[in-house]
Amino acid sequence: MARQRSARRQWVMRGIFAVGLLAAVAVAAYETVENPSNQLFGKTLVSGPADQRVVALTYDDGPNPPYTNQILEVLRAEHVRATFFVVGRAVAVYPGVVRREAEDGDAIGNHTWSHGHLLLYDVAGLRRTLERTDSAIYAAAKLHTHIMRPPFGARDWLVLGEVRKLGYTPVMWSVPLANDWEYPPARVIAARVLRYARDGAIIDLHDGNQGIVCARLHGSARLCDRSADVEATRLIVETLKREGFRFVTIPELVRMQSHAPMRTLSRLSE
Ligand SMILES: [Zn+2]
Repeated sequence: MARQRSARRQWVMRGIFAVGLLAAVAVAAYETVENPSNQLFGKTLVSGPADQRVVALTYDDGPNPPYTNQILEVLRAEHVRATFFVVGRAVAVYPGVVRREAEDGDAIGNHTWSHGHLLLYDVAGLRRTLERTDSAIYAAAKLHTHIMRPPFGARDWLVLGEVRKLGYTPVMWSVPLANDWEYPPARVIAARVLRYARDGAIIDLHDGNQGIVCARLHGSARLCDRSADVEATRLIVETLKREGFRFVTIPELVRMQSHAPMRTLSRLSE
């Protein structure tokens, strides 16, 4: 009887261990899928040249007036250009905002039609969400973009393979996310970003919330409130300018990367 009980306890312990192990593997796999710098699934742009005093400001999830417009005002006043990864369903509602981004010289990137998790799409669905967004961007700003950012940073071999086939460079970020969607004050967002801003950095802020069109919802204005990102933009730009940084768009960063001399060669010639 006692032996039976201890055998049962052993099985229970083994079961708990196995479940714990499975959970740990699942968490590790999930983190790998969304980890911005992981190159396991194929090459993505995580940062620019580490030997040039440049930084790229990027915004996801818009257009989302009035906050996107307010960010554009700050960028204009500071003579700085940024990159907006836009969500198709919001582009269709606010094409004028995207047109203005393009007119200001800011770059536009594809952030899918409805901000879905791309690992849940089959190939046809993946193509559809990117192509539909491309059409909306073209209707708004008369341009086709060649950069995209997967929502939640989620990708695997299949996703990146299709993205490349469609002619996109997948773009991640190097500065850890400031969790600006949790509504921290502007100075907190700015401090979180500035701590990690270095040569060639890609900063990722949010001018919207997964492309949600709050004007069509009732009593949910807070969902779309990105006023802290507007003020954080001002603080980040002012500080980095003082530190000698030049602001570039993602397409500019891509060009700089492809023209950058190989490290070893430039060191040999020094
Ligand atoms: Zn997003």
